[in-house]
Amino acid sequence: MKVSKALIPTLRQAPNDAEVISHKLLVRAGMIRKVAAGIYELLPLGLRSLRKVEAIVRQELDMVGCQEVDLPHLVPSELWQESGRWRKYGKELLRLKDRHEREYCFGPTHEETICDLVRATVNSYKSLPLNLYQIQTKFRDETRPRYGLMRGREFLMKDAYSFHDSFEDLDREYAVMHQAYLNIFKHAGLQCRAVDADTGSIGGSSSHEFMVLAETGEDAIAVCGQCQYAANIEKAKFKLKVVSGGAPQAMEEVSTPDLKTIEEVSGFLKINPDQMIKTLCFAHEEGFAIVCLPGDRELNQAKLAGLLGAGEELRLASDDEVMSLTGVPTGFLGPINLNVNVPKDKKGQALRFDFIFDAALQQNDVFATGANKKDFHFKNVSLTRDFGDKWKQQMADVSTVRAGDACPDCDAGSLQLMKGIEVGHIFKLGQRYSEPMKVNYLDQNGKDQHVVMGTYGIGIGRTMAASVEQNHDDKGIIWPAAIAPYHVHLLMLDDDDEIQSHAQNLYNELWEHGIEVLWDDRKDRAGVKFNDADLIGLPLQVVMGNRGLKNGAFEMKIRKSGEKKTLPLDNMLNTIREELKNL
Ligand code: ATP
Ligand code: MG
Repeated sequence: MKVSKALIPTLRQAPNDAEVISHKLLVRAGMIRKVAAGIYELLPLGLRSLRKVEAIVRQELDMVGCQEVDLPHLVPSELWQESGRWRKYGKELLRLKDRHEREYCFGPTHEETICDLVRATVNSYKSLPLNLYQIQTKFRDETRPRYGLMRGREFLMKDAYSFHDSFEDLDREYAVMHQAYLNIFKHAGLQCRAVDADTGSIGGSSSHEFMVLAETGEDAIAVCGQCQYAANIEKAKFKLKVVSGGAPQAMEEVSTPDLKTIEEVSGFLKINPDQMIKTLCFAHEEGFAIVCLPGDRELNQAKLAGLLGAGEELRLASDDEVMSLTGVPTGFLGPINLNVNVPKDKKGQALRFDFIFDAALQQNDVFATGANKKDFHFKNVSLTRDFGDKWKQQMADVSTVRAGDACPDCDAGSLQLMKGIEVGHIFKLGQRYSEPMKVNYLDQNGKDQHVVMGTYGIGIGRTMAASVEQNHDDKGIIWPAAIAPYHVHLLMLDDDDEIQSHAQNLYNELWEHGIEVLWDDRKDRAGVKFNDADLIGLPLQVVMGNRGLKNGAFEMKIRKSGEKKTLPLDNMLNTIREELKNL
């Protein structure tokens, strides 16, 4: 491609709404353009990179026996009603109606559609296992679309679904996909780490996310400094140091007028925040939950939602809700002598109510806590003595790990927190969809069974953006050759016939040998061309000028290292081919 004829609208300035480097650089390099919040056009250079990520994904998946399909973007609401997600999915789902008032959604993911395909076409265990994938535009009406391609509303995703006649066979395929994912990201030039992930309200037994470590990542992950343990913070555990000290002094009520927060009360009582019990009240679709945790720990909403089977509707209860549930003003709640008045639904049935103690409360013996009346707290509380042994039966892990917590898997390590960009996600679904949607097959004994499923996603655009997050400098992007829009940026410093014909010959020869060239043939100043070449970030820059030609030489710059080499004109093809192998 000649730059003089190309649509590459490079910009000096990044747009105002661009916060992260990949967004800034992809726009400035003329690769993407925003149309509306979270909705982007891919310009020629951007599309070439995206297609390369796609091609890598296809190759690795085809190699392990996955088959590509293309499912419709629109999904009839009936299918989502069967799985129960039509009601549950919330505002991310784009719902629409046709002229006959029939309802559809624009698929944000395609479990229902693929289940419908498989139940219609697979009858026997003989057709299993099966792994089907597609690479397709999804729509999710994200609350905060941002970061360019990283969190769009319309975005390209690879989604795969596997079908099995046993959980063991799902385990086998899951391991195959796990490895295929590592290969894909490595092949695309990304440094990526698989971490244990939350299975959320969908249930399912196991899940991993593939994280590209980057400061701008939206996910926090906990990583052990000593062993292989790595988990999304939504799921991460830590090893407890359980104490069993002597009996504390008798529990005592103390006046704490207007002191509500952990800091205020612990400061007043001259104790550490971890010697306080923080009591929080949550509301969700089916009712309420009260959670007690150490005063110095943060509640982990993903863990709590998983425990309650709640979705994104889980939220802190309002002051009014807390008052009508407990009769206690917020700030003075505690587990001792708490009377809960669980409200009833329209049919007169009591709503669901859970009382949960966080497992980390085992790390202390004596606490201060709200006394369930305004302006009073209890001190010297022992849960076992004052609440009773059953507190341990109501115990669950609902707090968030902190840097320095002990690793749950090894003896010596402690956890570090890092930021990551989730580029892929694999998930053992089990029978979550096959059961309600009756995706059945006849087993070897002729008995009807639900298939066992896995689901596997990769954000194609997000992967491309994550690569820019990992590979750039202050001048622009540094593409790994595998996903660069072109391999070589050919720059001419002079514009006479001799140079033209040399450049043309090289251009043709490289393309004929599978090396893709962007040829800057513009009459602009050299400085403009060099700046654009650095911004666009192709792995190799090949520079031709009159002075070099006279000496039978050309110049080559490696974008990544900045290294410049003057090389003989003979055998340029081989020189370039060899250099590209390392990039
Ligand atoms: P996130 O937690 O970032 O919202 P998710 O858990 O909703 O991700 P999945 O449903 O597992 O994502 O989707 C599979 C993959 O699709 C993700 O791993 C990610 O790479 C990509 N993806 C998800 N949402 C977006 C988005 N809004 N924009 C771009 N890519 C996305
Ligand atoms: Mg999401």
